[in-house]
Amino acid sequence: MNEPLVSPRPDIAALEGYHSKQVDVGVRLNTNESPFGPPVGFVDEWLADLRTVPLHRYPDRDARDLRAALAGRLSQPAERVFCANGSNEDLQTLLLTSGGAGRSGAVFAPTYPLHSHIGRLTGTRVVTGERGPDFLVDPDAAVELVVREQPSVVFLCSPNNPTGAVEPPRTIERLLESTEALVVVDEAYGEFSDWSAADLVADDRRLVVSRTYSKVWSMAALRLGFCIAPEWVVDELEKVVLPYHLAVATQRAGVLALEYQDEMDDRVRILVDERERLFAELAQFDGVTAYPSGANFVLIRFASPDIAVAVWEQLVELGVLVRDFARWPRLEGCLRVTVGAPTENAEFLTALRKAVAAVGEDPVG
Ligand SMILES: *Cc1c(COP(=O)(O)O)cnc(C)c1O
Repeated sequence: MNEPLVSPRPDIAALEGYHSKQVDVGVRLNTNESPFGPPVGFVDEWLADLRTVPLHRYPDRDARDLRAALAGRLSQPAERVFCANGSNEDLQTLLLTSGGAGRSGAVFAPTYPLHSHIGRLTGTRVVTGERGPDFLVDPDAAVELVVREQPSVVFLCSPNNPTGAVEPPRTIERLLESTEALVVVDEAYGEFSDWSAADLVADDRRLVVSRTYSKVWSMAALRLGFCIAPEWVVDELEKVVLPYHLAVATQRAGVLALEYQDEMDDRVRILVDERERLFAELAQFDGVTAYPSGANFVLIRFASPDIAVAVWEQLVELGVLVRDFARWPRLEGCLRVTVGAPTENAEFLTALRKAVAAVGEDPVG
């Protein structure tokens, strides 16, 4: 019997939604946001600017000012910049354009689950390669996968969420040499890392680099992301995305934020210093493995999923929320902690010491 027409597409009905557990605690280090609000001057200027906007008119459909401002920062032409409501909308638009029925997209696990989730939503078959023990993509295995599967899009998350691993330029070059696919490097955490693929984007290279205002730019609530892509890719994305998708308030905030580059660079430096300090402290913990990170978070592993879950629960009791990956494939026993403000990181370390001691005394809880 046929499905009734009012029921959802069976492949959608079979999907799990995307959730990240939220608990109301004092120290929230679970979603990789910036611990700092935007600079006060930015907020005042933005609100004053909004008073001058004709709200009865549609926003600039091509987001010309925003694209030009971003292009200036990136030393790329504005024609190679596409903006959307968070980089997740960039990725969705890319998959609507280049994925879909009869096509596939490749990801390398463990990685950001939204790449496969959006893939499935757009009817794109997802093929999954495995990262090596250090969570880097093995270039030979990756080339073998893309040659065999012929995906139309290849996602490379670098720095990788949730592991922190940064891919070397050579891996991206190898993928570009060995596939006709669009290679999409998700650099949501690119500012925290020591190199970016953004400079490699050119009209004759099938490379797309995706970035966001959600992390460094303290604007997760506003939803603004962008990608740098060959002009011919941007032209197609513009056809696919809904008209006037980007609100004028978001466009103005994006332009204005770029005038606060120095403040943002200072914040990145603070967070990178804090990350290194946190990593050094975590590496000293008995029974904890800390993975080197090029992002604003650190992944740590405990001896077993049960211990990690017990530590996570203790941390919540102590008012600290981190992200629980303890029962994820390849991440068994792992928790991910976002680098917070210095006081938050100190509170986290104190709580972790207590939690590990409590769990050590009574591991089954
Ligand atoms: C946080 C994150 C994003 C950002 O998503 P937005 O939609 O821009 O908020 C994208 N990719 C990865 C890997 C992330 O961790």
